[in-house]
Amino acid sequence: MNFRGPCFKLAVLLLLLGGVIGDLSAADTRIRYTWIQSRRYIYLRDIASYYNLDCFVTKEQTVLTSKDRKRRLVFTHEKPLGDYNGVKFYLLYPIQAQGIQSYIAEEDFRLSVDPLLRANTLRKHSMKLIMIDPGHGGKDLGGNTRFAREKDITLATARRVLRLLRSKGYNVALTRTVDQDLSLEDRTDYARKMGASLFISIHTNMASPAVSGLETFCMTPAGASSTHGGVKKEKEPGNSYDTNNMALAFEVHRGILRRTKSADRGVKRARFYVLRRVYCPAILIETGFLSNPSEGKRIQTDWFQQMVAEGIVEGVLRYHSAILKAGK
Ligand SMILES: [Zn+2]
Repeated sequence: MNFRGPCFKLAVLLLLLGGVIGDLSAADTRIRYTWIQSRRYIYLRDIASYYNLDCFVTKEQTVLTSKDRKRRLVFTHEKPLGDYNGVKFYLLYPIQAQGIQSYIAEEDFRLSVDPLLRANTLRKHSMKLIMIDPGHGGKDLGGNTRFAREKDITLATARRVLRLLRSKGYNVALTRTVDQDLSLEDRTDYARKMGASLFISIHTNMASPAVSGLETFCMTPAGASSTHGGVKKEKEPGNSYDTNNMALAFEVHRGILRRTKSADRGVKRARFYVLRRVYCPAILIETGFLSNPSEGKRIQTDWFQQMVAEGIVEGVLRYHSAILKAGK
């Protein structure tokens, strides 16, 4: 760890919450911040008191838990890694620690953690149309093995999501309903033209044979690095819902994991085209690895596709109930 900028002790300022972090307004809670590597970081102990959680700082981790043990947040020191109730999510910047204190980047508090804990940080919006986007199609097979093609699995899964969401009373559309070529631009244009309220893109993954598990992506906030690298300063349409993107990604990721019990590769950030160029909350799910021998077989089964679809629906329902309580 490298504390740069002003002397660490001098940089520790005690400020009223409202003055530091826009949305927080508990008048009697104080949040201290410090500068680390030219970035504003917040004391995790103060965040714990703000949420009324207990805080334990060990050498490797900071753990925040509620008295009733229903909420448990774990942050790994020196890594951009969080875990909320057993579900992994990547932060934009590493957690920093020194002695009994640990710190989270203010941007991560606002855009990665607060959206999971407090619905009133989300933007309210209608749920008039949910757009499901089966990845690839036509000449574009996507990930492809001797036994299966990504484009078929994504369409079969999307059809299940469509049926299930409709049975819950939602208005749902697919960007493609058959095996056809469809550019990324056509997908986002269609979502925009139809006035989609949510955009959920479904894919399967490819890597070396040993790798397996579920990954769910949402748009990287402007100026931050994506989980697998790459920084861009410009704000994109997909950044209009930064807090909602995280909440939706987390709920869907959790819903799928609960059913498939896949390895948890975490909620991640990326600037994929379909996440950048949409005007509503959007996520991209990599349901599993076709390139892994056992997972590759599993994700072709009706059971797995049904579990993924049910997990997506549970995530959407939980997200919907959160935005009904949203503040703005
Ligand atoms: Zn794909």
